[in-house]
Amino acid sequence: MLVVHKYGGTSVGSPERIRNVAEKVIGYKKKGADLIVVVSAMSGETDRLLKLAGALSTLPDERELDVLLSTGEQVTSALLALTLKEMGTDAVSLLGSQIRIVTDSAYGKARIEEIEGEKMTSYLREGKVVVVPGFQGIDDAGNITTLGRGGSDTTAVAVAAALHADLCEIYTDVDGVYTTDPHITQKARRLDRISYDEMLEMASLGAKVLQIRSVELARKFKVPLLVKSSFVEGKGTLVCEEVPTMEQVVVSGVTYNKNEAKITVSEVPDKPGTASTIFAPLAEANIVVDMIVQNVSHKGYTDMTFTTAKVDAKKAYRLMEKVAVELGAKLVAIDEDIAKVSIVGSGMRSHSGIATKMFSILSNEGINLEMISTSEIKISCVIKEKYGELAVRALHTAFGLDREEVVEEQ
Ligand code: ADP
Ligand code: ASP
Ligand code: MG
Repeated sequence: MLVVHKYGGTSVGSPERIRNVAEKVIGYKKKGADLIVVVSAMSGETDRLLKLAGALSTLPDERELDVLLSTGEQVTSALLALTLKEMGTDAVSLLGSQIRIVTDSAYGKARIEEIEGEKMTSYLREGKVVVVPGFQGIDDAGNITTLGRGGSDTTAVAVAAALHADLCEIYTDVDGVYTTDPHITQKARRLDRISYDEMLEMASLGAKVLQIRSVELARKFKVPLLVKSSFVEGKGTLVCEEVPTMEQVVVSGVTYNKNEAKITVSEVPDKPGTASTIFAPLAEANIVVDMIVQNVSHKGYTDMTFTTAKVDAKKAYRLMEKVAVELGAKLVAIDEDIAKVSIVGSGMRSHSGIATKMFSILSNEGINLEMISTSEIKISCVIKEKYGELAVRALHTAFGLDREEVVEEQ
């Protein structure tokens, strides 16, 4: 049996915690499984490195930034391997470039193309625990790349898929996937199971407990994912294929994302080709656009509004300023003071009136909706950031997701 474990930043945040991880790994290994352990950088380390780069450059070179950021995971993988050896369990750390986790060259958001399994397999055969730094890879030309924030989850799932592991366990600072971020409301409830589809929506809409890409890969390669706490024992949450009983719930989670910004290009002449002129430069610059709203045409002009990750927003804004000149648009505006709240549930496929209910709950709280988007199993609304947590709590209660035993909100 081959199992992949992944320990997040908080779980390896200090020498004591790394020792705690080593003890868990040794305990697991004693049960007879082969183990690959993927680690994140110590919590706060990636941000610290980003800040260092920011102190020396306003727009740090992307290649060098990846060389820098990948060091966080290099440190923890070596520390865990040496701790395991100190505790009498043979282990070896292997960098992304040594394993050869091959990615494309999109620095900062690289996608894994291939993982060579041989080196890991041969060390496993020798009885060693293989420790892999998450988040990093190498492109064809030998440049170091990183997979985007939270990318160690993706490394873990990709390694599990490449080596056909039986299970991938994600150890983090909460004991599973909840109906909403348990740090926003203590009324959040842990789910025993969640389908890949629902988890994918939750992750895309802001539930950072798993990186989106990791869920995509898990779904594609059918890797069962178990999300557990590194600090307390528990059953955790199994992310797996949908089973019929899961469908009874209409709304299974509420998410909140304040990492997006809204850009509006106003009074664009409304003619064929406008949308592609606006969005082509964004695609070229590798900027992912999330929601798009085009107003109805008024006297031959329209407004185009879209959202993008805050980290990309300034770049997108600059591109739009150029596009506006090209198209003869009147104005480009950027608003970073927004949050997106969403409800997710595969039961929405077969129920009507859910959107209306969501809108009335938010309006009862006096919250204005700036953008709306829907898919088969989710409804999202963009609102002012200051109302984000209030909206999550109101929706969580109104859709019947609150834990019963918690009576009062702190
Ligand atoms: P790690 O460092 O282990 O990768 P992350 O901070 O990336 O951990 O992810 C865990 C965090 O995800 C939790 O502390 C929690 O605040 C947040 N989170 C957001 N939404 C959810 C949710 N629906 N269920 C559980 N945790 C969530
Ligand atoms: N260290 C990286 C981050 O902070 C990757 C990860 O932790 O998954 O985003
Ligand atoms: Mg994470």
